[in-house]
Amino acid sequence: MTGAIRKLLIANRGEIAVRIIHAAKKLGISTVQIVSEADREMLAARIADEVIEVGPPAAAKSYLNVGNVLEALRRSGADALHPGYGFLSENAEFARAVTDLGCIFVGPDAETIERMGDKVNARRAAIEAGVPVVPGSDGRLDDPQAALKLAGEMGYPVMIKAAAGGGGRGIRVVRNADELATAVPQAMAEARAAFGDDGLYMEAYIEDARHIEVQILGDGETVVHLFERECSLQRRRQKVWEEAPAVALSAEMRSELCASAVRLAQSVNYRGAGTMEYLYDPLRKAFYFIEMNTRIQVEHPVTEMITGIDLVREMLLIAGGAKLSMAQEQIHCDGHAIEVRINAEDPARNFLPSPGPIDRLQIPNGEAVRFDTGFDAGSRVPPYYDSLIGKLIVKGGSRAEAIERLGQALEELDVGPIATTIPLYRTLARNADILDGSVSTQWLERWLSDKKLAP
Ligand code: ADP
Ligand code: ADP
Ligand code: MG
Repeated sequence: MTGAIRKLLIANRGEIAVRIIHAAKKLGISTVQIVSEADREMLAARIADEVIEVGPPAAAKSYLNVGNVLEALRRSGADALHPGYGFLSENAEFARAVTDLGCIFVGPDAETIERMGDKVNARRAAIEAGVPVVPGSDGRLDDPQAALKLAGEMGYPVMIKAAAGGGGRGIRVVRNADELATAVPQAMAEARAAFGDDGLYMEAYIEDARHIEVQILGDGETVVHLFERECSLQRRRQKVWEEAPAVALSAEMRSELCASAVRLAQSVNYRGAGTMEYLYDPLRKAFYFIEMNTRIQVEHPVTEMITGIDLVREMLLIAGGAKLSMAQEQIHCDGHAIEVRINAEDPARNFLPSPGPIDRLQIPNGEAVRFDTGFDAGSRVPPYYDSLIGKLIVKGGSRAEAIERLGQALEELDVGPIATTIPLYRTLARNADILDGSVSTQWLERWLSDKKLAP
């Protein structure tokens, strides 16, 4: 909190690293990119002012290696660090260590990450702020007996979720008591292995819900919202297609939802960019808070397209000590934006990862089309990290126009020779249910199991 940032270390890779470098350059901030041995040639490393290697390819030894990343920060002379998403972005101890070095962590402070990044704590904060949550356990589930008792009272199906989970992992649906008795110890062991924390909690399973989330920005005093995004199209609880505004939300529900997100962020004096995630039950016309992401999200560009606000720029300004540069009344929503995640996965082979060379990368352009990527022709998608190659984002005056533009842009987009999820989106952009917006978080998996995609 020592004034404007001069030199920024980017503790991430791929498209979000490029995105952060672009925002930093526009503000006149110099940039230092960390890379693993596998990423020396990546686009972010080529456009940053400086590059520091932090370890071998495996993320645990490089991007997740706190000692090495902190050493790079010290050596670089950077006065701030942007964590991007995933990796160390929601690690409170890491955020604290950055601050202890006298540097700025671009995000909320460690206490807020602890409070809102832990899903059980965040549920509690939501309840205290009067924000509805999915009916479920009061705190962590201590043992299988307590879980059985609670599920018996609530009724099945229920969901068992890891308090430290993220990226769609650490969640399972349980349909009866027998399943629950074996699921709890298994889920605990998995959560301990994946997140280093075996804490679990329980929620009622909301069938055919829609995933709707609210983007917020806070400066520690004031919080504003930048409307909502809908991310109902998911596979394995991971978003694949996101849009803004949400499809089936009345004006009244929208303002209630956005107000609840602001209230919750305000209750913790939130500082930085964050997202409140909710499930929306269209039958009951009710929304339930599920979690907060205390960081920039993958799908932030759809919000940028409809509001014209550069979220990463705002993050950097706020982290440098500035107050919010806009009041709520100045934030408007114009048109409709859609993002699809282009992954190095083969939809014809059950989404088998397809790392390898990118010899062809033809990016569509034109009015209201954006492509965020960490790759270019001649790059190679390494097998060590998540499979996101890039994000195609389009905007239209209406949702129908946005989908039409998406279809056109997808015809022009060409990535190869590796397999990608582009063919999936070409099919989805013509699908009747998607065109009229009658989807839920279970829609895509049902559709995929009914349908064999042409290779
Ligand atoms: P978003 O919430 O921005 O839509 P995702 O859920 O797709 O983001 O996650 C973005 C990236 O961060 C993915 O690579 C995902 O695996 C990773 N990630 C998110 N949360 C966690 C977590 N708690 N632990 C490990 N990885 C995570
Ligand atoms: P993560 O931290 O992995 O992002 P979330 O709690 O945000 O986990 O949930 C991810 C997805 O799982 C949601 O978008 C939704 O599709 C599904 N989900 C989570 N909780 C529930 C629930 N209680 N009922 C039905 N689906 C749920
Ligand atoms: Mg989530």
